[in-house]
Amino acid sequence: MQINQNISSVRVSGTIKLAQRAKDMIAEGKNVIDLTEGQPHYNTPAHIIEAAYTGALEGKTRYTAVAGTPHLRKLIADHINKLNGTDYQLDNIVVGCGGKQLIFNALMVSLEQGDEVIIPAPYWVSYPEIVKIARGTPILVQCPEVAGFKITAQQLESTITNNTRWLILNSPGNPTGAVYVRSELEEIATILRKHQRVAILCDDIYEAIIYDDAEFNSLTKVAPDLIPRTLTVSGLSKSYAMTGWRIGYCAGESDFIGQMIKLQGQSTTNASSISQVGAVAALEGSQEFLKDWLHDYTKARDLVCSKLSQSPYLDIYKPEGAFYLFVGCRKLFGTGELSNDHDVCNYLLENAHVAVIPGSEFGSQGYFRLCFAKQEELLNEAIDNILQAISVLSH
Ligand code: GLU
Repeated sequence: MQINQNISSVRVSGTIKLAQRAKDMIAEGKNVIDLTEGQPHYNTPAHIIEAAYTGALEGKTRYTAVAGTPHLRKLIADHINKLNGTDYQLDNIVVGCGGKQLIFNALMVSLEQGDEVIIPAPYWVSYPEIVKIARGTPILVQCPEVAGFKITAQQLESTITNNTRWLILNSPGNPTGAVYVRSELEEIATILRKHQRVAILCDDIYEAIIYDDAEFNSLTKVAPDLIPRTLTVSGLSKSYAMTGWRIGYCAGESDFIGQMIKLQGQSTTNASSISQVGAVAALEGSQEFLKDWLHDYTKARDLVCSKLSQSPYLDIYKPEGAFYLFVGCRKLFGTGELSNDHDVCNYLLENAHVAVIPGSEFGSQGYFRLCFAKQEELLNEAIDNILQAISVLSH
């Protein structure tokens, strides 16, 4: 059957492709430690599962409003308002099937053919592809390690054209864990004030996963005058270990959100009603466990950083948020048969039995990403295997 040219040009999601490959190998009985996909190793907390189960038994198994139940939207509005200093009401909020669907809907309802979307690289794999699906043009801006993997105000200013419609900001960022500080957002806001037609999509999905003294700062809090043209996307997947429940949400100006709801009403309708009941329990219940999880992630981050820094072949950038390590592996190029980050990841899969994702999938060649939201024992084994496999390589 015919596939249109636009969809033919879209890449398969790098994260999903490599995670599937690792899953297939494990299913074939191969001994592989999978550090590809970004998700906590914890199960969803029991009180959330129990609430969803009870809700299903009570008949919460039918369609809800397309935008989500009023109860859930109210809780989300309260959460965002508290975090970001906004004043969102129900009509500013839409719930969808994961953050990805909301980003998809936002770009689908807004982009015209050839509109440009500025995406700081390294970026989460799906941003440019969703832009292409929506017939826009991704404009990738390389943000090197020396700049903390963050776009500078100068870079932004020199990249904006008359065709720019969006800037995507993701902080804490996937795949690097970089976190924008207040002053950086202020400088970015100064540039954005000069360009009224540019909207900002803030992907805050890792808002709760922040280490040490780093702080989560939203653009809306730093620059409230930009609230009318800022869209905040987040969800429960990462914070509450609910990736499979597919609950994401988006907050923004009510007319725009209305268009997103219209589109969603013609595609998936509401996010799962049962998942929405679970999401209510997550937001209403105790948040204490999140502190324990953060403590574990911090330990895991420190473990992988300190162990991998032992290798002279690897460059480590300590993440300030999220649960990924973006490891520089350029010094391995030229050893053995390795000449790019795909080679390195294949080598690690074959020789260390550890699955990680090449940086080039995230728009930055010369790195690999691993997810460290895993049990300590597994991480220790994975990192030891990686170090051992690298140590046998020689120039
Ligand atoms: N966002 C996660 C990751 O980067 C999940 C996979 C995906 O949807 O890309 O690994």
